[in-house]
Amino acid sequence: MNVQVPVQNAVRALLILVALCVGTACGPAAAAPPARAPEPRQAAVIIGPPTATWDAQQLAPFRAPDGGIVLADPGLVPALTVLAQVDIGRPLLSALARGNVHLEYDDLDEWAHYELSTRTIRIDESLQDADPRAVAALLAHEASHAQAHVDGIGDREEQTLGELTACVEDEHRATVTELNVWLQLFGRSGKQPAANDYEEQVNAQLADYLASPTTFRESAPREHALQCVE
Ligand SMILES: [Zn+2]
Repeated sequence: MNVQVPVQNAVRALLILVALCVGTACGPAAAAPPARAPEPRQAAVIIGPPTATWDAQQLAPFRAPDGGIVLADPGLVPALTVLAQVDIGRPLLSALARGNVHLEYDDLDEWAHYELSTRTIRIDESLQDADPRAVAALLAHEASHAQAHVDGIGDREEQTLGELTACVEDEHRATVTELNVWLQLFGRSGKQPAANDYEEQVNAQLADYLASPTTFRESAPREHALQCVE
């Protein structure tokens, strides 16, 4: 459950949720009833049980290119296979295996999130029938968050930059990772035609990014404000 109430820092450190819900297109794909109005990025905090909700018996082992095993919902294997074929994707898959990060579908209020406390990436179930290439880009975004967590990058940035700037940095890095996967898979025009709101959102972000990476970078604190400021 996403909430927007303050929690104690120590608890928050365990429960902070890195969520993807970018821009005004936040919400489920058109196929997911009921349609929800566009809303801004959600607060990046989750309160919930300290255990993962996934059932290991229902997860399929996916072998990363370096031999590591990632446990994932069988429906995510096509997207993982795409990610393994992209240069940017392979080190991300290694990090998921190294960190024992699990992947599953769930009914979310955002497209996807990475939950630090359970090391779980969840993809919104409205994307279960989406193009595996699109889901691969979304997985790359969340895997970037997971990699920063697993390798201690996030902790180091928090110590040197402070919590807020570190959050913005982490979100910007994840978004650029996602966009570079999108660029490799679909080219500079993005995925045409876009099949759902998520694809439209990433197409628009890619256009902004390609127009000026510098301006895109400078917009990061504003773009990630709702996610990183409580
Ligand atoms: Zn994110």
